[in-house]
Amino acid sequence: MKHIKIPFAIGIAFFLHSCSATSKLTVPSVREADLQKKYNYETGFNNADTINFIRIGHATTLINIGGKTILTDPWFSEKKGYYRGEPIAFLQDKLPLLSMIVVSHHHYDHFDIETFKTYPDKNVPFIVPVGVGKKVKSAGFSNVYEIDPWQSVTIDGVKVTACPAKHKVKEITFMIEAGNRAVYFGGDTKLIPELNEIKTRFPKIDLAILSVNGLKIRPMFNKQMVMSAVQAAEFCAFINPKVAVPIHYNFSGGKFKDLFILKYDGNAQEFANATTVNAPKTKTFILETGDTLSIH
Ligand SMILES: [Zn+2]
Repeated sequence: MKHIKIPFAIGIAFFLHSCSATSKLTVPSVREADLQKKYNYETGFNNADTINFIRIGHATTLINIGGKTILTDPWFSEKKGYYRGEPIAFLQDKLPLLSMIVVSHHHYDHFDIETFKTYPDKNVPFIVPVGVGKKVKSAGFSNVYEIDPWQSVTIDGVKVTACPAKHKVKEITFMIEAGNRAVYFGGDTKLIPELNEIKTRFPKIDLAILSVNGLKIRPMFNKQMVMSAVQAAEFCAFINPKVAVPIHYNFSGGKFKDLFILKYDGNAQEFANATTVNAPKTKTFILETGDTLSIH
């Protein structure tokens, strides 16, 4: 077990032993036992003064803020052409009672609604971009909020504000606030000027969770779809979060897709290196799937 300690953050890591670009869905039982020591599958985390974070896999994470637990971009299965590239921390049946789910956009690796429709609480609030709500409703969920950039929803003391984004399909990113704490979830956006307003609206950000694989589409003249590791570090320098965690960097489309269709420009280590140079005030943690981070 690895312990990360800085004045405001304590990370508790639960190691995985293997990770390959086309790994199958695996849930190492040894890690599950470790995880349960710090985390209760029934009640989740229970310290309202602390921000707790778990990287489940790819862009699927749990954010615990204000004593509430929020799931981001649920992806709990794999299919041909979509590989997580890392073992998943745990499957959907091990989720705690969720306060809400936020979805940045409707791509399968961020919105696996076919799998998620078995989640038992059909009243759990879903916050999604405009246009995605009907898919959530047709999966049986009744409590759906569609929001555009700078619109907010407040549920049980947690305020979720949609922030701008630009990706291949309509997308929003999220600022999640409770009390005086704030967590930014960056979805799959590119680095766009519209994001500048985040700094003005949210001058104090505790945690930024940023996709960093710089995805490009080869047949579209390498058109960029996601910020690169270096761009994500530049963005960090701008919004100045206390802590940053990279996500969305082990994905693989499989050998054929990676060779002919997809191209990547960034990984977690490149992001960490670039933040050291560009955003030295931000502490960056590379979390294996299943690692937790607490920000006090
Ligand atoms: Zn993605």
